[in-house]
Amino acid sequence: MITPADTPRSLVADAARPQLPPASLAPSRRQAAQLDAADPLGPLRAQFQISDPDTIYLDGNSLGRLPAATPLFLADIVNDGWGKGLVRSWDHWIDWASRIGDRLATQVLGARPGEVALSDSTSVNLYKLAVAALDARPGRGTVVFDAQDFPTDRYILQGLAEQRGLTARQVHSPMDAPLGLDRLGAALDDDVALVVLSLVHYRSGALLDMAAVNELARAHGALVLWDLSHGVGSVPIDLSGTGSDLAVGCTYKYLNGGPGSPAFLYVRRELQTTLRQPVWGWYGQRDQFHFGDAYQPVDGVERFLAGTPPVLSMAAVEPALDVIEQAGVHRIRDKALALGDFAVQLADAWLAEHGVRLASPRGPEQRGSHISLAHPEAWRVCRALAAEAGVVCDYRGPDRLRIGMPPLYTRFTEVWDAMDRLRDVLADRSYERYSHALTRVT
Ligand SMILES: *Cc1c(COP(=O)(O)O)cnc(C)c1O
Repeated sequence: MITPADTPRSLVADAARPQLPPASLAPSRRQAAQLDAADPLGPLRAQFQISDPDTIYLDGNSLGRLPAATPLFLADIVNDGWGKGLVRSWDHWIDWASRIGDRLATQVLGARPGEVALSDSTSVNLYKLAVAALDARPGRGTVVFDAQDFPTDRYILQGLAEQRGLTARQVHSPMDAPLGLDRLGAALDDDVALVVLSLVHYRSGALLDMAAVNELARAHGALVLWDLSHGVGSVPIDLSGTGSDLAVGCTYKYLNGGPGSPAFLYVRRELQTTLRQPVWGWYGQRDQFHFGDAYQPVDGVERFLAGTPPVLSMAAVEPALDVIEQAGVHRIRDKALALGDFAVQLADAWLAEHGVRLASPRGPEQRGSHISLAHPEAWRVCRALAAEAGVVCDYRGPDRLRIGMPPLYTRFTEVWDAMDRLRDVLADRSYERYSHALTRVT
């Protein structure tokens, strides 16, 4: 329900703003259109390539849309940078990992220049920083993580625990709600070297309080490594202000960097020289092109780099950041709150009677920019939506339909139409025509 207290300021400021009906009544499509018309971010949708206007794309939390400027931007780098410049272009490519990292740091991560670099994948960065953190806490033998966290995070920590003879201690967050601080606190003691958590939970969308978690872990002498993948570009992040030490995250979700765009890593400046990562590659080496005999890492954040970055994929992050900077993270958040509330209102009014339950925190402040809906037939419903209703969202086990609403390009009318079509699919049972078998990618 949208109430004055939790409605974003920018969306109530306008006196002509439509009053939404009580929660049990669904807002009308006309009201959705009015919300779109009053949306300060509405014009930014034109900065994305929408090649099929009939498709409602609610999966930008998995792969963000293509910014309209990206193809030409990349074509220039291919033709001029690579085609003409050839190896000479490395003169300027060489510092892109940290230059674009600085942009990320200051525009979306609340970090200082020199604390963020683009590099590798989120999985690999998580491994590098986890090892660095464990080495910085000698004598401690436990790593704490969420048994419900995104698989790659869990696998990497399980692997590390096995390789190094550590205890992998899993905390169990509720499926549909944030991990409670009491539950986390109960898992902490003076053997814990490292805590790894996701800011926004990939399944439920639950959002954690970074400052509170950092403080709790610090009180036990443990470092926290944040996975920001589902939060970055969608929720305001203040790595400095929350006293965060380490973080990693994707650039292809809400940051719209494109499939396989390199991830980022963050290491608080004060920690950089005391941390060592396990991959001693030449991109972390002091005087890289002196080709020295011994590995001697640079002092800055570049010491966490390993090898040659994927320049084209890295470049694609720039036009994507242009759009985010125009919007501003706080306006993005304002709209995310409103979109999420709007979707929940429709789900409550229309879908509950078809056996759908909200599987995300109810308070919009406790979520990122997606919601999950639980239904026993979620997988087949997801397939029917894509095949018959032009609605692309995704499925996450055991029975969740994930509805992503990236504020930069998602309209209220799209959310309304998607929920309307979801209601039809459930009412007609058209999903029964689809196989229960999961496809390779869900
Ligand atoms: C998307 C996501 C990843 C992806 O990791 P890759 O190495 O890019 O495949 C990792 N962790 C979380 C929490 C994610 O949401």
